[in-house]
Amino acid sequence: MLSCREVVINADQLLDGELSWRRRLAVKVHLLICHNCRRYLRQLQRLIVAIPHMHRRASDEEVSKVMSCIHSQGKSNS
Ligand SMILES: [Zn+2]
Repeated sequence: MLSCREVVINADQLLDGELSWRRRLAVKVHLLICHNCRRYLRQLQRLIVAIPHMHRRASDEEVSKVMSCIHSQGKSNS
């Protein structure tokens, strides 16, 4: 059984489809029982999808939406 650390080390290769079938199977077995690694891989996948969109400048509308969320959370916490 792989450790969580080994899953993290292999995560990039798994998502890129570069793991051997044995290693991929070992990771999949680990993922069946480990909620934390499933969540880690899901977040890593989302990040990989989002990265190409992170380099453009935010529109004024996006900035104002984020600012209004920040202001509304500040009001609910105080
Ligand atoms: Zn794990």
